[in-house]
Amino acid sequence: MAENRYSDATHCQALIIGAGPAGLFAAFQLGLLEVKAQIIDCLPKAGGQCAQLYPDKLIYDLPGIPACSGLELRDRLLQQLEPFHISIHYKTQVTALEQIDAAHFYVKTSQAHEFICQKIIIAAGTGAFLPKKLKLPGLEQYEGKQVFYFEAPSSIPESARVVVYGADDHCFEMVRELSTKHSVTWIYRRDELELVRYNPSDLDSLVHHGQVQRITAQIRGFTCNEGRLSGFELLDSQGEEYVLPGDYLIASTGLSPQLGPIAHWGLAMQQKLIPVHPGTFVTDIPGIYAVGDINTYVGKKKLIVCGFHEASLAAYDIGSHLNPSRQELLYTTSSSKLQELLGVKNRSH
Ligand SMILES: Cc1cc2nc3c(=O)[nH]c(=O)nc-3n(C[C@H](O)[C@H](O)[C@H](O)COP(=O)(O)OP(=O)(O)OC[C@H]3O[C@@H](n4cnc5c(N)ncnc54)[C@H](O)[C@@H]3O)c2cc1C
Repeated sequence: MAENRYSDATHCQALIIGAGPAGLFAAFQLGLLEVKAQIIDCLPKAGGQCAQLYPDKLIYDLPGIPACSGLELRDRLLQQLEPFHISIHYKTQVTALEQIDAAHFYVKTSQAHEFICQKIIIAAGTGAFLPKKLKLPGLEQYEGKQVFYFEAPSSIPESARVVVYGADDHCFEMVRELSTKHSVTWIYRRDELELVRYNPSDLDSLVHHGQVQRITAQIRGFTCNEGRLSGFELLDSQGEEYVLPGDYLIASTGLSPQLGPIAHWGLAMQQKLIPVHPGTFVTDIPGIYAVGDINTYVGKKKLIVCGFHEASLAAYDIGSHLNPSRQELLYTTSSSKLQELLGVKNRSH
């Protein structure tokens, strides 16, 4: 391996792309097999579709758990993973992947963070969840400076006038947080917000205390002054147009999965899915595995429980290559080795 070219890269045995249920459980199984793994996800939090698309809806078909919300499943998977102290690199999209030699891969990310790893598990679901952008011609030139999607940067000056656009719980949380330091205007095109975990009265108290102004309007354009964004052209529900002064725009109007760079990683693809061997979940490139919603094989079902099964068998195959001394199948109920790794003493009922 040409060491110099990769001197800044983080080395790990296995790299998991995607912190959805399949990726998180793959990391757990690798932990039991004493394979050191790291996880990358483009979102700021783990959980994939469960956390992003149905955080509060109940899942009824997980084995042994009669009902559990998307967020609760995410939290339980993270809790189960704790003993292994796995690094999860959030807000990082894997952009490129190349094979260095028979035993190593190089992975490049949107954060200029590079990895060298021996095995890769792609657990990318339906693709990277990226924020939907506002369709205002020219606005993109302010992205990363005065316009941000999904998350507000910590660098906003206290005196700045911040506009938040969106309707959901995530927006509410951003507005509440931002309003502790800034003057915030929360804009959405409908009167009704789409709150699940919060009540409209929670917002009323922020508005009442003068921290937040709530406006029902569409953002139709923006104004600039000396090369900086200075305001937003609004059309309100009465058909009135006016300009609202503002320095920063944080928009959160949902995420959409984009397959993006995965299609260019040199893997065989079938209708945006990665074909795998159904016994090991290895792809057509030895050393690269695909588990969860991203893969396809005869009989495939896009279910969480199938992702868990696939993650387990992929981990075992990786373990057989990287840690051949651990070939024997051990049970967490009875193996003192596994209990030691988990930091538990066997508790029988
Ligand atoms: C509304 C709804 C309800 C559902 N209900 C159920 C149910 O009741 N029972 C059930 O079994 N299943 C259900 N499902 C399906 C289930 O959510 C999926 O099968 C499961 O989430 C797939 O998990 P995953 O880990 O493969 O992928 P995902 O959950 O999609 O996670 C993939 C992760 O990879 C990240 N990622 C992708 N590409 C990159 C990249 N290049 N770089 C960095 N990160 C990347 C994404 O940001 C994402 O976080 C439901 C799905 C939906 C949409």
